[in-house]
Amino acid sequence: MPKQSGPVVDARAGAEGRRIDLDDVCRHFSVGGGVVRALDEVNLHVDEAAFLVVLGPSGSGKTTLLNLVGALDAPTSGTIRLAGTDLTASTRAERARIRRRTVSFVFQSFNLFPGLTALENVQFGADVAGRARPERVAAEVLEQVGLGGRARHFPHQLSGGEQQRVAIARALATGNPILLADEPTGELDFRTGVQILELLRAQAEAGRTVVVVTHNREISRVADRVIELSSGHIVADGPPVGGRAALAELHW
Ligand code: ADP
Ligand code: MG
Repeated sequence: MPKQSGPVVDARAGAEGRRIDLDDVCRHFSVGGGVVRALDEVNLHVDEAAFLVVLGPSGSGKTTLLNLVGALDAPTSGTIRLAGTDLTASTRAERARIRRRTVSFVFQSFNLFPGLTALENVQFGADVAGRARPERVAAEVLEQVGLGGRARHFPHQLSGGEQQRVAIARALATGNPILLADEPTGELDFRTGVQILELLRAQAEAGRTVVVVTHNREISRVADRVIELSSGHIVADGPPVGGRAALAELHW
């Protein structure tokens, strides 16, 4: 697996630039006369470049939490600060601006543009972030995720693992310091899944904050910090029980 280096980590990735602060955050949904408490009184503070895993069963509030951290959604109550800016006191336009320069997303189902090549998909990330020389950034990042030889392939010509690496490259091409990944290995076989985790771990070592959401407890063993959710509450927050495992120790 290629190592990360150089211009992919943007100069904006200072400590303040990747701070995440949630205070007493609730996200409730009104459904058919009732209320679903997707998140309840959540407090979370992240101020270091680290590999974080949000762990919990289906329906525990993981995606809701990720969407709030990524400024895609707003809480019912409580305060969220991203990179030091209070999202809950910001206008929609301000939230979009903060999101654009702070976070990037990776999804379970890759979400690549089918009509664009691997290189063009990655360049899209550099374009939306307004980076200088986006094509060069894209080529460089694609090389770093080990897909320099697949630049002109379309998504349907790539394996699932390769598609996910393109999706990660697109996120990295933004240069943003926080990487949010929702079940990024959910559609991959075990071996490919471990390769993707290795790539994501390397991003934390390169100075990013990487937040991976999963229902798979095994994945949480390689985290620096595990935030465990149950029915919308954080029920545990700390290093993995028994210490951080090596990727080679994982089985599922
Ligand atoms: P997870 O990602 O852990 O599976 P989610 O964050 O998607 O969980 O959902 C948490 C809870 O909130 C679930 O009970 C889900 O049905 C509910 N929920 C999520 N989004 C909405 C929504 N837009 N409207 C109503 N209920 C929702
Ligand atoms: Mg989910």
